[in-house]
Amino acid sequence: MVHAGLRGGEDETPFLPGPTFAAPYHLRGDPAARTYGYGRYANPTWSAYEQALGELEEGDVLTFASGMAAVSAALLPALTAGDVLVLPHDGYPGVRNLARGPLASAGVERREIPSTLEAFLAALPGATGVWVETPTNPRLDVIDVARIVEAAREHGAWVAVDNTLATPLRQRPLALGADLSVASASKHLTGHSDLVLGYVATRDPDRLAALTRWRGDTGGIPGPMETWLAHRSLATLDVRLGRQEENAAAIAAALRGRDDVLEVLTGGTLVSFTVESAARAEALLGACELVAEATSFGGVHTSAERRGRWNTDDVADGFIRLSAGIEDAADLVADLAAALDATA
Ligand SMILES: *Cc1c(COP(=O)(O)O)cnc(C)c1O
Repeated sequence: MVHAGLRGGEDETPFLPGPTFAAPYHLRGDPAARTYGYGRYANPTWSAYEQALGELEEGDVLTFASGMAAVSAALLPALTAGDVLVLPHDGYPGVRNLARGPLASAGVERREIPSTLEAFLAALPGATGVWVETPTNPRLDVIDVARIVEAAREHGAWVAVDNTLATPLRQRPLALGADLSVASASKHLTGHSDLVLGYVATRDPDRLAALTRWRGDTGGIPGPMETWLAHRSLATLDVRLGRQEENAAAIAAALRGRDDVLEVLTGGTLVSFTVESAARAEALLGACELVAEATSFGGVHTSAERRGRWNTDDVADGFIRLSAGIEDAADLVADLAAALDATA
């Protein structure tokens, strides 16, 4: 994490060179053998971050303007009329929106299934591609990627894994056999709730070439400043995740000890729990001082929200997803306990 993409620095250069801002670069004569000609196609700040992520994902990486730009690059050019995409009916809603919108318009059939190994295996016959998100969101189950890949191969289907939640520190989909590892860097990977970014990783040179063409043609490129901040944030990923996971475990243990909390699920830095009603959930979040009410997850500041407010997840009205930050565990537990007591 600390050294990714940064080995072999020259004397008198920074550990992490600053962002390069460029539209055109100076480029004389024949451009064929050159990398940096125009800023929509290549940028040295992307190159350094992509090198770093490639070391972690164990593949080649392309960064994109957002997680959804990366998801779009993975799915839209890879599927044509008559193809069949298998995807979970929970998980990140943006993926379903692509399947139900532009992919459906293009004649791509979709099979939306529950996020279980059995459902994936049953949906494989006739599939062109498979989209897996694990741990699942919002219920935080873990799915066996290697098993899905093995079965998908028998049916000639490719497999893409959304690695946003786990990050390459906890899960390496390409090493498990997946064709693509796709992630939003807006969450754990950068962890400071200050930027939106995404990437796709692959070991297949043809897929890499297709993704590179797609990014150049559609222009969903990351800004150099965001990319540089993302690379800077990578150094602390291990420390942040370790502390966030410890805090999540402490919060989950405290919530399990209360009889006014109905169900507690944990996965890494996330704790999903249910209280009896939407009103109690809203009141509880309003009464917290340290736990910010906000969507998303993975940041150093603890945050939580009632998922039902988006009408996108199939969850109970009082279902709250909490993302543990790096504050003091005892402070967080005390804040939640006080808010639960105040709203009982
Ligand atoms: C946030 C998220 C995305 C989309 O990423 P953005 O950076 O917000 O575009 C995709 N998948 C998962 C699992 C996410 O949590």
